Amino acid sequence: MTAFYRYYLIQITQIMKKLLFLLMLLAIVTGAFAQKFAVTKTDEEWKKILTPEQFEVTRKAGTERPFTGELLNNHETGTYYCVCCGQALFSSKTKFESGTGWPSFYASISKQNVGERTDNSLGMERTEVYCTRCGAHLGHVFNDGPQPTGLRYCMNSAALKFLKQ
Ligand SMILES: [Zn+2]
Repeated sequence: MTAFYRYYLIQITQIMKKLLFLLMLLAIVTGAFAQKFAVTKTDEEWKKILTPEQFEVTRKAGTERPFTGELLNNHETGTYYCVCCGQALFSSKTKFESGTGWPSFYASISKQNVGERTDNSLGMERTEVYCTRCGAHLGHVFNDGPQPTGLRYCMNSAALKFLKQ
C-alpha cells in the first residue's frame, strides 16, 4: 500500500465517521419531533373496531362522499367524539350549515384535542385536522367559516361519534 493510498483511505474513513455521526444526530432529532399518540393500534387492530369506511377515513386520510354522512343533518344537542378513541372533538353549539355536504363546525372543543398539520396532498396546501389522542384523520379546516371564528372545520361524518346530551 502506498503512502498516498493510505492517506486517502484515512480521509475517507474520517468523512464516513462524520457522516455516521450526522445521521445519528438526524435520527435523534426526528425521533424527538415525531408525534407520539396516547392511543396507538396497528391497522389490523383498527379494522376490528371500525367499519371499512371509518377505517379508510380516519386511518388512511380518506374523504367520504359529500351528502352521505349520517351526522350531516344532525341537529341534536350534544358532543361529537372521535370514532376511534372517544376523545371529545366538537360541540353541537358550533355546528353550522355550510352547504358543502360534510358536517361543519366553526370551532373545535380545544386545540389540545383537535390538532392541525399541513397537508400538501392532491397538489394543494390545506390544513389537516386530526385527533391528538390517536392521530385519526378528521378532515380539514378552512378560513371561510362564519363568525365568531371565521373558520370552517370540514369534517367527515365517518370520523365522528355523536352522543346526545
Ligand atoms: Zn381519536
